[in-house]
Amino acid sequence: MFDLIKSIFYEVCSYFVPEKQIYEITGECKKCGKCCNYMYSVDTYTEKEFKIMQMIFPKYKRFYIKGKDEDGNLIFACKLVTPDGLCSDYKHRLRMCRKYPARFITYRAKLHDGCGYKVNFKEFKDYLE
Ligand code: SF4
Ligand code: SF4
Repeated sequence: MFDLIKSIFYEVCSYFVPEKQIYEITGECKKCGKCCNYMYSVDTYTEKEFKIMQMIFPKYKRFYIKGKDEDGNLIFACKLVTPDGLCSDYKHRLRMCRKYPARFITYRAKLHDGCGYKVNFKEFKDYLE
């Protein structure tokens, strides 16, 4: 339950807390659709938590649980992605979709294999330069 409260807190914060960029993103989208078909949520661990999140934030109703990875983490997918990997409601896609890959995440970002974007981590010395 604590994790769920944390998820709700982070979701609300995402609208008000300014972004803190800790790394650079380069490259561009190759429109493979992997990020719409295989998603993780850092704080949503159970089906019940996901349903509660959907009730509180109806925008998440477009997502469904696709399965679990080898560590038991839930994998989500979007109902709006087309078979060829494109967004069928691009004009109304969510803020999180518009901002993907997000630059403010405080844990180490991991992109899908073959994604056209690249995450360039900044070391302390890079900031000094
Ligand atoms: S995984 Fe990367 S290249 Fe593929 S659709 Fe998503 S952002 Fe674009
Ligand atoms: S709304 Fe569109 S861009 Fe966002 S996850 Fe769904 S298919 Fe992808």
